Amino acid sequence: MRPSQAIIDLKALSHNYQLAKKTSHAKAFAVIKANAYGHGAVKCAKALASQADGFAVAFLEEAIELRQAGISSPILLLEGFLEASELALITQYNLWTVIHDYWQIEAIEKTACANTLTVFLKMDSGMHRVGFFPEQYLDAYHRLQKTGKVAHITAMTHFSRADELNCDYTSQQYQIIKQIVQPFGLATCFSNSPTILGWPIIQSDWVRPGLMLYGVSPFEASSEKASPLLPVMTLQSRIISIRELPAGQPVGYGSQFYTSHPTRIGVVAIGYADGYPRLAPNGTPVMIDHMPSQIIGRVSMDMLTVDLTHIPHAGLGSEVELWGKHICATKVANLAKTIAYQLFCNVNRVTKQYIY
Ligand SMILES: *Cc1c(COP(=O)(O)O)cnc(C)c1O
Repeated sequence: MRPSQAIIDLKALSHNYQLAKKTSHAKAFAVIKANAYGHGAVKCAKALASQADGFAVAFLEEAIELRQAGISSPILLLEGFLEASELALITQYNLWTVIHDYWQIEAIEKTACANTLTVFLKMDSGMHRVGFFPEQYLDAYHRLQKTGKVAHITAMTHFSRADELNCDYTSQQYQIIKQIVQPFGLATCFSNSPTILGWPIIQSDWVRPGLMLYGVSPFEASSEKASPLLPVMTLQSRIISIRELPAGQPVGYGSQFYTSHPTRIGVVAIGYADGYPRLAPNGTPVMIDHMPSQIIGRVSMDMLTVDLTHIPHAGLGSEVELWGKHICATKVANLAKTIAYQLFCNVNRVTKQYIY
């Protein structure tokens, strides 16, 4: 069997969820969209089911998968329904939905659906992606109420720059929504991971932690605010071949690396088709038999090459950690000019092994 695996530590997931709740003093949707950021949505939901206040996914099909797996907790659709016909299924599966556009309100007006919808009404407080502009917000709110089909409305917004701890934009967004919804005493749902960890001044009744559940810092620079998190995924593989090259030899596609001295090279059975970023440059850290080493040469589809020169005890079958407990996924992501979110979402091909 191919020795490439993502080991998923579900105890660490619980720890991180509890940390999100403790830090925010709020009810928390565990955000498990995109197959729980590549960690396995059903497994993660089951691991958190007894403690989670709710789950959040991007769209209907992701929610139905959880219901069919027996998850009975509240599930919020972060993008709401994508066409009017989904409203019937939202009722049937007892889902909560975000409303971010007038067409969705019109759909509720026109559809004969149950009169017990739980709605999270989204304001565009500055991200300018989805949501009602502040000046539209109360109109949208009253129109929703007038449909007579909505039982609960919670005010929601999303921060676009909360990972930038020295940037004032998050406070500005917070002031905008607070001013409008506070007089109405609406329940609120504001914070994502960087807001929970980096902006304790921002309080809401519900929070929506995603990345932090998986134990990785949402901040680009290392921050002690994220230090209590425990990494959930360890991506690992093994050495399947070894070769010794003299100085001056190229390694891999495009000869992007040349040996500067006699070099012992290990070939690892994992590549970009497994979600390891192709843009990881020479020098990207890996851990081999508990010794630090690095990528040399370009990452291929199913294999990559590492430097074993300084690890004589490493050989065929040696274990290689690509990220996880020792190698920080954010570090690898930064070097590959992406973010840990994307690295995790791309982990589809390797087998997953769960630790309970
Ligand atoms: C994905 C998502 C989140 C979770 O964000 P993290 O940065 O991973 O914590 C929260 N809210 C919304 C609307 C999202 O789409």
